[in-house]
Amino acid sequence: MADVFSGILGQPKVRDFLRSVVERDAIGQSYLFAGPAGSNKTLAAYALAQAVICENKGCGSCDACKRIAKRTHPDVRYLEPEGAGGYLIEQIRDLISDVSMAPIQAQRKVYIIDRVDLLGVQAANAFLKTLEEPPEHVVLILLGRTQASVLPTIVSRCQVVPFRHIPHTEAVGIVCQNTGASPLQAAVAIQASNGSISKGIEFVRSSERFAFRQRVLQILESLELADDLDILEYAAELLNRAQAPLDLVRKSQEEELAASAEFMAQAAIRQVEARNKRALSAKSMEYLLQTMAIMRSWLRDVLMVASGRPELVINEDAQEGIVHTAARTTPPQLVRALSYIDKTCEAFRYNVSPETGMDVLLYQVRKELYGPRSASTDAI
Ligand SMILES: [Zn+2]
Repeated sequence: MADVFSGILGQPKVRDFLRSVVERDAIGQSYLFAGPAGSNKTLAAYALAQAVICENKGCGSCDACKRIAKRTHPDVRYLEPEGAGGYLIEQIRDLISDVSMAPIQAQRKVYIIDRVDLLGVQAANAFLKTLEEPPEHVVLILLGRTQASVLPTIVSRCQVVPFRHIPHTEAVGIVCQNTGASPLQAAVAIQASNGSISKGIEFVRSSERFAFRQRVLQILESLELADDLDILEYAAELLNRAQAPLDLVRKSQEEELAASAEFMAQAAIRQVEARNKRALSAKSMEYLLQTMAIMRSWLRDVLMVASGRPELVINEDAQEGIVHTAARTTPPQLVRALSYIDKTCEAFRYNVSPETGMDVLLYQVRKELYGPRSASTDAI
């Protein structure tokens, strides 16, 4: 059969299992995909969604399959936690009421619910009844880091599909195979995507993201000579460019809604609008964290060179600047700079404004790497 599951690289058992349930017309209604970050769960979930929605069990080439692959099919919904600590109860209420509504274009609906290990007891309890007895047209695919980290009441209501950890070299190979990228590009993309293969693939396919990464690295290299005003400008530029793809997301949301609006009740339209708004802020957070991941990966490389392990550098194309910086700083300073990255990520999750967070971060990184800047130096 034409096969959407061949894309689930690195997980042969999962692939065979999903193929067999689809062939036997035995797709269940509640799955828990359990596996570490970067084990291809999201990719597998979208492939299963294609098999559920497509009239040909997931041909990969019809309009529905293509929309699902582009993540714009209105009957395949993706959810991730929108609160700092996990899912908001209001997200789950929205989900429950959405589940009960009829599909918009297809015969069935699929919900991909990421990080269910971050589903708190209250939110989980609200969700149990839906999970246990979803409407006939609904398939729920829950994704979690480990089975043990998901509440037992959730696990017991799902069919658990275990995913293995994919080693880094294999992950690089997967991204190369899927995109034609070089191993260097693939490694860089995976790092920038915090280890996620599917987001790494997205990153590789976007020349704009690669250009953005280039600029982030340039700015980091320029910090040595930057004065306070430069830093403010760099921070503003980074935020602007990090968030630029949001315009596209916003546009495709508007187009999707316009295409479906005539079939939808006012209340449903309002709900989609609210959901789009939340999706946009989740995406905005994703880009912010991606920027942080690029910075982290560069600082890590400088640390590798400064500690005498240049063979472990990942951003090989930025070697010159990395070596230059490593010669001007020390491993303890680099470790402190790296810890500022983590602190800033945490601050963003707790709603510190991106502007404030980015300014402070660049000041701190400069200070850690090159010492405090005296006022007289700035004047020169
Ligand atoms: Zn299809």
